[in-house]
Amino acid sequence: MAHAPRREHLFIETDGQVFLVEDAGRLRFPRKGERLPFRTVPQGTIAFEGDVVHRRKPVLERHPDEWLGRDAIFDRDDVDGLVKRAIYTTLIRCVSEVVLSKGPRVLMVKAVRGFSKGHWNLPGGFMDYGEGPEAGVEREAEEEIGADVVLDGLLSTYVSGFPGKPSYTLGFVYRGRVRSESFHLKPDEIEEVGWFTVDKALTLTRNPFAKWGLIDFFLQSPEARRALRVRRHGLASPRRPVVRPTIFLDRDGVINRGRPGYVRTPDHFEFLPGAREGMRLLQDAGWRLVVVTNQDPTGWKLVPERQLRRIHERMLAGLRGAGVGLDEIYYCPHHVFSDCACRKPRPGMLLAAARDLGVDPRRSWMVGDKVLDLETGRAFGCRTAWVGPRPWRARFRKEAAALGPDVVADDLLRAARTIVRRDAPARGRRATR
Ligand SMILES: [Mg+2]
Repeated sequence: MAHAPRREHLFIETDGQVFLVEDAGRLRFPRKGERLPFRTVPQGTIAFEGDVVHRRKPVLERHPDEWLGRDAIFDRDDVDGLVKRAIYTTLIRCVSEVVLSKGPRVLMVKAVRGFSKGHWNLPGGFMDYGEGPEAGVEREAEEEIGADVVLDGLLSTYVSGFPGKPSYTLGFVYRGRVRSESFHLKPDEIEEVGWFTVDKALTLTRNPFAKWGLIDFFLQSPEARRALRVRRHGLASPRRPVVRPTIFLDRDGVINRGRPGYVRTPDHFEFLPGAREGMRLLQDAGWRLVVVTNQDPTGWKLVPERQLRRIHERMLAGLRGAGVGLDEIYYCPHHVFSDCACRKPRPGMLLAAARDLGVDPRRSWMVGDKVLDLETGRAFGCRTAWVGPRPWRARFRKEAAALGPDVVADDLLRAARTIVRRDAPARGRRATR
């Protein structure tokens, strides 16, 4: 079925004044292609069903007092509905949430209704009319858990859109504690509360503010930092971490060919075609490269850690030969059924990298061939790329689609090309914040 062509409109605004054109007694946005008496600079788009609204900044000599003020537009009945809808969409929503901690653990609440129904979240919610973020989060959290909350400061503020919605939300996330643990849950809103380590909490929530707030809490909490134990090869120097855009790479099936019976010796290690070129491309575009790998054969005692190190030395030598340097290799040596922080889909290895090297999830990607790699990236709040040959991907299409990978490609080189085209740090672009 052919889709109707989308109508394209220009939303031109400067200092709260909006440029509209009169059309049969009504005021509307100019359409794309219509002649304008000034130049404009693009400022992103807002997509509605059937309509695309392009935001534009006008290039003018003076402030256009004769244009309509954005607030005055709602008082008039001769203004097109799309104009009102677009202006309403540009108003930012505000939520305020809190990481309540007890040692390295944080309190999460499970919602029975609303956007996060059935999911865990940080206590907090939308701010009321006229309310500041501190008062808002105290009120929301105390209503939800029925206990006194003490705020210890702001972790950070974050901006995010939500899938399928054109509006943006500003999130304030605080850190704090509870005075007592006798909770009285608000029955129509919260069904359960629990204390979790940050790596576990990250797998439980879908809320991007909660994820980023949890990671900032983790980085600021000496107890949480200390509690996370993750094995690494030891490439990183112990200097102060420096936040850099980072690509996390799964190993088997992304960098090297996986094999039945596992890669058990250095001679089993075979680079996939294009993998080193892809890594070189990412590195040259300004990303730090970090490998994060579950090593089931070490968990099964088939590959002792000493041998795993030798395999990794072989990989590093092959990468060096292609001009590729890794910042670190994190690995999970535990058994497949272990409940450790490091085993993907838990994001413990990525958290460890944030602690040891300096990583901002909003400027990072996780690249992997398995659904659990996508889950790991999702848990950490970074973008994800799913790589693997078509027949492989066909087998897991449904599970992967539910996780909405940002890039899907046949191999690492193709994924790298797309990532570089969309998001190269060298261009100085930053996703959010
Ligand atoms: Mg893999």
